[in-house]
Amino acid sequence: MKLYNTLTRKKEEFVPIKENFVTMYNCGPTVYNFIHVGNARPLCVFDTLRRYFIFKGNEVKFVVNFTDIDDKIINKANDEGVDFTQITERYIEEFKKDASGLKLYQYETINPRATEHINEIIDFISDLIQKGAAYEVNGDVYFNIDYAKDYGKLSHKKLEDLISGARININEIKNNPADFALWKAKKEGEPAWDSPWGEGRPGWHIECSVMAKTILGETIDIHSGGEDLQFPHHENEIAQSEACNGVAFANYWLHNGMITVNNEKMSKSKGNFFTVREISQEFDLEVLRFFLLSAHYRSPINFSREVMEQTKNSLERIYNAKTKLEELVLLTKESEYSGEDKEYLEKLEKNSKEMFINSMDDDLNTADAITAIFNLVKEVNTNLNEESNKKIVVDSLNMLMELSNVLGILTMEEEGIDEEIEALIKEREDARKNKDFARSDEIRDLLLEKNIEIKDTRTGTKWKRI
Ligand SMILES: [Zn+2]
Repeated sequence: MKLYNTLTRKKEEFVPIKENFVTMYNCGPTVYNFIHVGNARPLCVFDTLRRYFIFKGNEVKFVVNFTDIDDKIINKANDEGVDFTQITERYIEEFKKDASGLKLYQYETINPRATEHINEIIDFISDLIQKGAAYEVNGDVYFNIDYAKDYGKLSHKKLEDLISGARININEIKNNPADFALWKAKKEGEPAWDSPWGEGRPGWHIECSVMAKTILGETIDIHSGGEDLQFPHHENEIAQSEACNGVAFANYWLHNGMITVNNEKMSKSKGNFFTVREISQEFDLEVLRFFLLSAHYRSPINFSREVMEQTKNSLERIYNAKTKLEELVLLTKESEYSGEDKEYLEKLEKNSKEMFINSMDDDLNTADAITAIFNLVKEVNTNLNEESNKKIVVDSLNMLMELSNVLGILTMEEEGIDEEIEALIKEREDARKNKDFARSDEIRDLLLEKNIEIKDTRTGTKWKRI
């Protein structure tokens, strides 16, 4: 598989440190609010990469951290007059709801919190001070940028330009304007932890370096995040990790492109800012996930209600193929593969599975991988019917489910059966048997009010959320 490495600006063959075992670290949310559609993109994209590694027979250790101590959290806690942990607990729970909707927890994801790693953070910073890579001033600790000779190698920025562009804040007593904080001395009204430099709290960049090292080791295979994190966040992570560990921090750096809304940059002030929760009130989050995968991850992607409607319709075409195949499994008979069957399956292998794999191998080209799934849908719609061999129906269904699972789609009906809906459908079926069509229509309307559409098929009543 080839992946575009921001560090080298090239597509490179991906080789993990340990065969068939991949370590991935993706920068997660600062938990002070609901996540927005821009936060959802890296989560869905890099979860898909993880799923693809699993599909190819690898074991994956996947970390998405929670930044649970930060200025924004402290400000929100002070505004509400509550302890900062009340804010973080609340939004971690809310994040988990959104993440489940986006199918991010189908495989194990490790979600470490910065505040659970304070001791390791203190050890890491002490180590940097000992090496001369960091220094303390009045209870603050700064990273000594001169220690990182290759600073700027990820974002391809020159240190001189950064220094001349840096704003000098008179309150900061730094040796070099580009030095950045590892530890911040306690200010009035802020949560703080004891440290060799007095009470204080960690800076943002240090927590990712420490949690990645603690959970995944000194060198990880893949570090990922939005392209807006390249500088300064990821650049600083590299500087401090490599200064501390003396080895490469991550072998592959992957960054996704940004999201625009109606072709404008998303921002709160423009009123075009959407949280995942808001979107979930109108669409199943699987539609959002499918939308986020519909473009190559490094390209910008434009979000709008119209595009979401189109995405919903195209996802429905895949669901319809699944429903057709499930019905055909019950209606068809099994026989030996005929010449025609073999021809059909060869075409499926080549135009769908092979194309899917080739696309994903080419720097996670999910847009083309989706086309490969639509090729499968087209074959199913054109060639399969009640006269088909059950074997090729089952083969088609298995392939559809296998490829869709890599993208994290076609999961809607698998989410726990809704007992209330099932009971209503059962009641309607009984009403129909008893020719009580008034009650049957009543139930259909009742379900529609709950945004449930039902369809009577020869194999029973099917339902879906609309
Ligand atoms: Zn990070």
